[in-house]
Amino acid sequence: MKIGQGNSKFNDQTSDNIEWAKWSWNPVTGCKYGCKYCYARNIANRFYKEKFEYMVHRNRLTAPVNTKIPKKRINEEGIHNVFVCSMADLFGDWVETEVIQEILDVCEASPQWNYLFLTKNPKRLLEFTFPDNSWVGTTVDCNARVANALKYMPHVKAPVRFLSCEPLLEDLNIESLHGFDWLIIGAQSKQTEVPEFQPEQQWVTKLISTAREAGIKVFIKPNLRVELPDRPKEYFQARPIVRPGRQAQQTTMFLEGLEATTL
Ligand code: SF4
Repeated sequence: MKIGQGNSKFNDQTSDNIEWAKWSWNPVTGCKYGCKYCYARNIANRFYKEKFEYMVHRNRLTAPVNTKIPKKRINEEGIHNVFVCSMADLFGDWVETEVIQEILDVCEASPQWNYLFLTKNPKRLLEFTFPDNSWVGTTVDCNARVANALKYMPHVKAPVRFLSCEPLLEDLNIESLHGFDWLIIGAQSKQTEVPEFQPEQQWVTKLISTAREAGIKVFIKPNLRVELPDRPKEYFQARPIVRPGRQAQQTTMFLEGLEATTL
């Protein structure tokens, strides 16, 4: 298959799992971290023949070119946002540097999309310079992850850095969110191995107040059902829309070049 002509597309994301992105894209799948609440492992074990083993799917690199936003959805919040590797941790230590760089290069060549990256290994993010159309985050679900997040995230070379506290499992000790641009808070949804878990209201309001002190945006996930005085769902301003024909051509040319040199 010629990489510039594959028919892979983004997945239309309709569930509440990643409400802040209307698409997901999985050029890599599988993860070696063992989070009990992992919805991705649940899905992979049910539907993928390779289960949750680490896999690279280069045939999916054409998805940014092939995916078009339906006209009637053009004004939807988050419609330009693509969650990269919803079925993996792209920045796990086992993922080859070239694979990550190849994906970042494809993202840079398709600026009609915003790409969202999320990892539990924030130290690895420092190895890369992220393109202008990327938002990069780390998950902090418990206090054991706070130190690494605060140490590494402010130094990540990305236009938007975010913290995802989902599922929020503890009363987090985070003194300041300076260095971040966005905070996402969510609960633990029911999975095969874990029941639903809702954090205490005070854990959530404390985080929101830390975010307000730092002047950053806050997004409360629908799966968080504790009573709150308000439930902010703040995004960044929508990106300017690039003419699709011109952009698709640019990205296809990039992918064809990639095939000639590296694939
Ligand atoms: S890091 Fe993410 S993908 Fe990996 S096991 Fe944990 S929740 Fe699942």
